[in-house]
Amino acid sequence: MAEKPLYIVLIGAPGAGKGTQAALLEKELGIPHISSGDMLREAVAKGTELGRLAKNYMDRGELVPDDVMVKVVLERLSMPDCRKGALLDGFPRTPEQARALEEALSKEGKTISLVPYIKVSMEKLLERLAGRWICRNCQAVYHLVYNPPKEDMKCDLCGGELYQREDDKPETARRRLEVYFAQTAPLIDYYRQAGILREIDGEKAIEEIHRELLALVAEAMGDDCP
Ligand code: AMP
Repeated sequence: MAEKPLYIVLIGAPGAGKGTQAALLEKELGIPHISSGDMLREAVAKGTELGRLAKNYMDRGELVPDDVMVKVVLERLSMPDCRKGALLDGFPRTPEQARALEEALSKEGKTISLVPYIKVSMEKLLERLAGRWICRNCQAVYHLVYNPPKEDMKCDLCGGELYQREDDKPETARRRLEVYFAQTAPLIDYYRQAGILREIDGEKAIEEIHRELLALVAEAMGDDCP
C-alpha cells in the first residue's frame, strides 16, 4: 500500500454488502475494518454500559444517538492501528456524524479519500437481510441462498456457529431500511458534492464488486496497484 493515509467510508443500505466487501478489502489494503455495528454487538454481548444503551435502539432498528456513536468511533480511530487509515462500515450514518468525522480527521491534516456507494434495490435488500447469517465468532457474513457456508451452519473461515441477527428479522429489517433512507441516504449527496463519492452496482457478484472497489482505491491513491 502507498504511504498516503487511506480513509474509506463505505455507504450503502443494510444488506448492501458493506461488511462483506470491507472484510475482503481489509486483507489487501492493510488498514483496519471498523464496523460500528460490530462494535455495538460486541458491547451488547459483553453487557457493558454502551451495550445496554445501544441494545434499546438496535432492537427497534433505530439509530444510536449521534453523541454516543461519535465518541465510540472516534476513540477507535485514534488507536495506533488506524494511523495509516481505516475502512469505515456503518459510520457515519447521519450528517452530524459525517461532520464530526471530518472535523476529527482534519485536526490531523487528514481527509476521507473515497466513499464507495454500494447501491442495491429495496427488493434485493429485503431478500438479502432475510437470508443473512453471521458467524458468532469472526462476524463473517453468509447468505443461505447466495453465499451458503460449505458445512451446515458453520463458518468456513473459523468453524464458528452461524446465527441470524435479531434485527435482520423482517419487521426490524424493514424499519432499518426506512431509517437508512431517511437519515443516512442524505450522505450520498453530501459526499457526491464533495467529489469523493463513487457509485457501485451492489447487485453484481461479490468478486466483481471487490475488483471494482480495488480499482477505485487505486484511482483514489493516484496509482495503479493498491
Ligand atoms: P449495522 O450492523 O451497521 O447494520 O448496525 C446495526 C445497528 O447498530 C443499527 O441498526 C443501529 O441501531 C446501530 N448502529 C450502527 N452504527 C451506527 C451509527 N453509525 N449510528 C447510529 N447507530 C448505529
